[in-house]
Amino acid sequence: HSIMEAFGGKVIKKIHETEYKLAQIEKGLEKIRGAKILLAEDNEINREIAIELLECVGLEVVVAVNGEEAIQQATNSNFDCILMDLQMPKIDGLAATRALREIENLSDLPIIAMTANAMLGDREKCIEAGMNDHVSKPVDTIDLYSALLKWVSLPDNANRPIIRQENTNEARENIEIELPHVMAGLNIQEGLKRTNKKKNLYLKLLRKFENGYVQANEKILEAWNKGNMEELEQLAHSIKGAAGNIGAKSLADAAQAIEDAAINQSGKEKDLLINHFDQQLKEVMKSLKELNISEDEITLDIDFSVINIPEELFANLNESIKLGMYDDLQDDIDELADIDSNCQQLAEHLKNLATERKTEDILNILNTVGLSKQK
Ligand code: MN
Repeated sequence: HSIMEAFGGKVIKKIHETEYKLAQIEKGLEKIRGAKILLAEDNEINREIAIELLECVGLEVVVAVNGEEAIQQATNSNFDCILMDLQMPKIDGLAATRALREIENLSDLPIIAMTANAMLGDREKCIEAGMNDHVSKPVDTIDLYSALLKWVSLPDNANRPIIRQENTNEARENIEIELPHVMAGLNIQEGLKRTNKKKNLYLKLLRKFENGYVQANEKILEAWNKGNMEELEQLAHSIKGAAGNIGAKSLADAAQAIEDAAINQSGKEKDLLINHFDQQLKEVMKSLKELNISEDEITLDIDFSVINIPEELFANLNESIKLGMYDDLQDDIDELADIDSNCQQLAEHLKNLATERKTEDILNILNTVGLSKQK
């Protein structure tokens, strides 16, 4: 009994210390309010969390979805800091950093890596490439803010526009739904911590996860059966990140094991890893269903399932999204708009989603349309 009490006391003390520390850091961030941050990250859920965490303390965020875009953005306008994901399509974070360091007036720009693999040597690789620091993913709020405080400095006379100021406590409390602390496969407290205790944001991510990864087990198995290890690695990597962010640690670990197998091109424990992953995913999905958080689908004028689009265009759209080729995606969407009036409506809807980089939503819609053989 007394052991439990002592243990409980310790835990509570630790929580209080963390909250105190966070409050101190948030206060410290006031002096870099208005700083302009370039966020280079290919994973949509990771982006959404990072944007929220940065904007809610008054920082301005510009997004790049791959290394090539990051280089373009960084050379075209002035930033106070870059948050750089390591694994990205086209040009990865390390290569993008090396390229930026070659540019004369960017040699001192603070670049902070966000790395999902807590692999030994990652830190060294980042420093070698010219990065200043690194934070691990899923992002811990205190780590992220501390790194920004350490590296970002604004000149005293900086007269920056304030993008958004919000009462953090209001954002935390301003929602009625009661959440349990823990469910099977889902540590809600942990997930809320990742989103800086913002229930709204957390619920949004849960919904996104529920919609976006419901068929993840089939996709994983399909990629593995085809022997497409690159696709397998990407799928597993993205699920790992999303699961980690919502507090589904066992699922994140199961995805990590598959990612490792894909990297090592090893099929040795395929059945075991797949079965384990299936179980963990089912458990999380069951908990999400129990939470009953899904919103009513947005009603649109058209029913996407009655629309048929040419197989080849469908394949191109999917490919462009998966590879993060947003210019190609725009071209594909323009092509879609030219087919007929239904397709034009669909194209308009997709275009909006593409501008906001809502790739999971686009993929979900594409999954509901019909396919036609003719060109
Ligand atoms: Mn990535």
